[in-house]
Amino acid sequence: MSTSIRRTAGWLAAVLLSLAGVLVAPIAARAATPAWPTLSSGMSGANVASAQFLLRHHGQSLTVDGAFTSGTTAAVLSFQSANNLPADGVIGPLTWGRLVVTLDVGANNNAVRALQTALNKYGYGLTVDGAWGAATTTAVTDYKASRGLTGGTTVGATTWQWLLGGGGGGGLYAPVIDRSVLPRSEYDDPHHDYPALDLPTDTGTTTYAITAGTVGYAGGSCGYGIGITADDGTYYLYCHLSSRVVAAGARVSPGQVIGYTGATGNVTGPHLHLEVRVGGANRCPQQLLLAIYDGTSVPAPATLPTTGCFY
Ligand SMILES: [Zn+2]
Repeated sequence: MSTSIRRTAGWLAAVLLSLAGVLVAPIAARAATPAWPTLSSGMSGANVASAQFLLRHHGQSLTVDGAFTSGTTAAVLSFQSANNLPADGVIGPLTWGRLVVTLDVGANNNAVRALQTALNKYGYGLTVDGAWGAATTTAVTDYKASRGLTGGTTVGATTWQWLLGGGGGGGLYAPVIDRSVLPRSEYDDPHHDYPALDLPTDTGTTTYAITAGTVGYAGGSCGYGIGITADDGTYYLYCHLSSRVVAAGARVSPGQVIGYTGATGNVTGPHLHLEVRVGGANRCPQQLLLAIYDGTSVPAPATLPTTGCFY
């Protein structure tokens, strides 16, 4: 091969590589459809509540409380038997396939409540009333556009699979404030001294439990503070609230209202200060909050960095 041909070949390879980069980038950004979550006895969270609403929609009688206890197991077994599914009391892909129903604008039933509950995992803050009105249409349209899903406003099996399988640990996590309050860019800011995150919210912004756990009260420079000790031992601290609406010692589920933001304690203005502690050590909350905002796979709190999110 002559030098000039070799040079040409090298140049061609460079062009092809850069073209490949351009072509691959948008494909890589489009994530694969998440797997259906597997729900079983002892679990809690938004996905359990959605499943309970869907079971009710199909005529099963059970309490919708987001906790997978014996009443839910009995309803799942009954539903599985009635649908010729293996009756194991566990909600896996086959059972989800029979539970979800195709929905569209104007529907008014328990399946819409399941949908509204699932959308709220992504911070849409919908009233779970079972009536598909304008707010639900806006949320469905925004959610489907963000995932590149087609089919207009219709919520079919694929959209259900995205909603239930994604969203911060499959329903184990919820946004700390409604998605519409702040842009994504506010969730990756470094903190001014140690690993934490300040969200610049106006006083009175509704604040939600990030995950299931037990409430403790914090004070001092934290002002009206709430600490949630999660089931995995991770401690989530919310500071400077204007009011708290859950009692110390109460059990909370992901997405439950715990209080309203404010400017109590040591602050220069209203904001929500957040900390994530594993084994007593502060971790950077940014990647966790961003994953919840994006509805992508949530990193285990113990894997969050301890440096690089403050200055
Ligand atoms: Zn702070």
